[in-house]
Amino acid sequence: MTTRILTGDTPTGRLHLGHYVGSLENRIRLQHDHELYVLIANVHAFTTRATDPDSIRRDTFEIVRDQLAAGIDPERATFVVQSEIPAIAELTFLLAMLIPYSRVMRNPTLKDEIRSKQLGDHYSFGFPLYAVGQCADILTFRAHLVPVGEDQAAHIEMTREVARRFNQVYGGEVFPIPESLIGRVARLPGTDGVEKMSKSRGNAIYLSDTADDIRKKLARLYTGRQSPTEPGDPNNVLFQYARAFIPDEGRVRELADRYARGDNLGDGAVKAEVAAAIDALVAPMRERRARYTDAAVLEILHEHTRRANGVAAETLARAKEAMRLDFTPPGSGSGTSG
Ligand code: ATP
Ligand code: MG
Repeated sequence: MTTRILTGDTPTGRLHLGHYVGSLENRIRLQHDHELYVLIANVHAFTTRATDPDSIRRDTFEIVRDQLAAGIDPERATFVVQSEIPAIAELTFLLAMLIPYSRVMRNPTLKDEIRSKQLGDHYSFGFPLYAVGQCADILTFRAHLVPVGEDQAAHIEMTREVARRFNQVYGGEVFPIPESLIGRVARLPGTDGVEKMSKSRGNAIYLSDTADDIRKKLARLYTGRQSPTEPGDPNNVLFQYARAFIPDEGRVRELADRYARGDNLGDGAVKAEVAAAIDALVAPMRERRARYTDAAVLEILHEHTRRANGVAAETLARAKEAMRLDFTPPGSGSGTSG
């Protein structure tokens, strides 16, 4: 049996370096010998942007384009546009009965998002529901492995609980218990040096940024250091970027060592090397991105939606059978509304 992988992104902006080191890199690597589903959580984007459907649609295209440009092969991987998979919505509702409301509201990822996105107590009813929806995303595809950044670990833990509970209550071993796979860098900080790099927080370096954008964003990075002879912190945000993106580890060690000693190494010089390394990573993506017009992306999404609905409908049918909700006449399809 091949291992199934599901992971994804919310179309609340384009993909950034945090996505790359947290998850995308693993997707690209694992697509060759695993069945990979890449979800575009466009329904969940409405939890914080319900009044802005045009930008959700635009970002859906951008996120698919970013991944094709980064090396996701549409012949191997399947993009899943969440809104087009009715089984996910049905399962969200069914799974919501198996998880206490208080458990959802204690989810540390949700709490952190409410704090950092300054949602206060004005968030929609649908906002916390997205955490259950994410369990449904993963379980609909009966995924074994979920490549994510550290911020998502709590959601995967909740998914494991829900899957166990479903299997225990209704039997049938419908759902595998998924494992998270945290990326090479579990949590890349943003250019504010405080919060995680995040597309909704204005602190991101995007995979689609120009060389000039990258240079400017790094130039603004604040380290608090006054002069090249002042000993610097070799674990500050600048050096976290250096470790993440300069491929030559020996070179990074040498820079960190001189920086820590205040051996005449200015922030500007380190920033220039980091900017060049990031540009070397994203330059080939820039070229490939140009090939994928909206029409080309849409064609891929149409084809992938058909594929994804096949798997999703089968899961839903199995889940409903286990729940004794199997009233669809045989041969009339999967029991989904789609
Ligand atoms: P938003 O601000 O809208 O929540 P985001 O930047 O957090 O957007 P998501 O779509 O929520 O992006 O996350 C997609 C995937 O990328 C998840 O697996 C998440 O853990 C991972 N990820 C996001 N930001 C980082 C980061 N800074 N470091 C490591 N992984 C990250
Ligand atoms: Mg997020």
